Amino acid sequence: MDIAAILREVHESVGQSADRGAVATYIPELADIDPGLFAMSVVLADGSQHSVGDAAMPFSIQSISKVFALALALGRLGDRLWFRVGREPSGLAFNSILQLEHEKGIPRNPFINAGAIVVTDAVLSHHAPREYLGELLRFIRTAAGDDDIHINRAVARSETESGHRNFALAHFIRAYGNLVNPPDLTLGAYFHQCAVEMSCDQLARAGRFLMGAPGMPRLVSPGRVRRINALMLTCGHYDGSGDFAFRVGLPGKSGVGGGILVIAPGRASIAVWSPGLNAQGNSKLGTEAVELLARRAGWSVFG
Ligand code: GLU
Repeated sequence: MDIAAILREVHESVGQSADRGAVATYIPELADIDPGLFAMSVVLADGSQHSVGDAAMPFSIQSISKVFALALALGRLGDRLWFRVGREPSGLAFNSILQLEHEKGIPRNPFINAGAIVVTDAVLSHHAPREYLGELLRFIRTAAGDDDIHINRAVARSETESGHRNFALAHFIRAYGNLVNPPDLTLGAYFHQCAVEMSCDQLARAGRFLMGAPGMPRLVSPGRVRRINALMLTCGHYDGSGDFAFRVGLPGKSGVGGGILVIAPGRASIAVWSPGLNAQGNSKLGTEAVELLARRAGWSVFG
């Protein structure tokens, strides 16, 4: 398979599209990004990497960080984590508060905001936010094999000042006794975690530990890799998760910065970035690009 040729084709047919979705504006610091940017990078099981577009340009990974935070939390707490957060798709928006009251402060899954806030709280419980963020950065840098990965403090500050829904979620969860730390502390860590910046080149390499292929970094056990991939497939795109599974057929986690990390188990780690989002808050062209790539490469977890 000529992956470089497939990537060129994807870049030509999708990367130039006129209908690019809408950039997220609820985090003011992210609102000015150029919607014309596009990048894609693929690491194959043989370790080779292939990229197109603005693949060396760092962007805000936002909710893609929830994958790395979950890997850390499972390493620290193991299956005890599942007493505090569920494993079901929510069918609701990423920042929805609706289910929380019915389900008594136990968020549906670790990838909606409420669940990710609980995961961060769980990893944080015996650490200062600075230590947790240091550990998270170490994990991501080791996964990517690259120390040049940092947190954009202006983005974190911007979200701290404007993230009223996340504050509401955290306080609501705390009222049900499912938040151990003061909401400000947990959210401070959560906003900084979301403000990690990576390029598509770095993100595709950071996803190698989820490929389950020989020779790739082994940061979590094979059993955990399968579970993280299962959650990415069922919950990684919020209320667009079913449609992503239907169209792409691979586990993926999106972020409102317009990035998506996609895993073709045993075959590839894929990062795509286009800042314009669809109605569910997932990268519009990113989804189209990875759909085309998966079809051309014949990658799917469904056969
Ligand atoms: N920091 C964002 C928030 O909490 C992440 C959302 C996302 O990337 O989907 O609203």
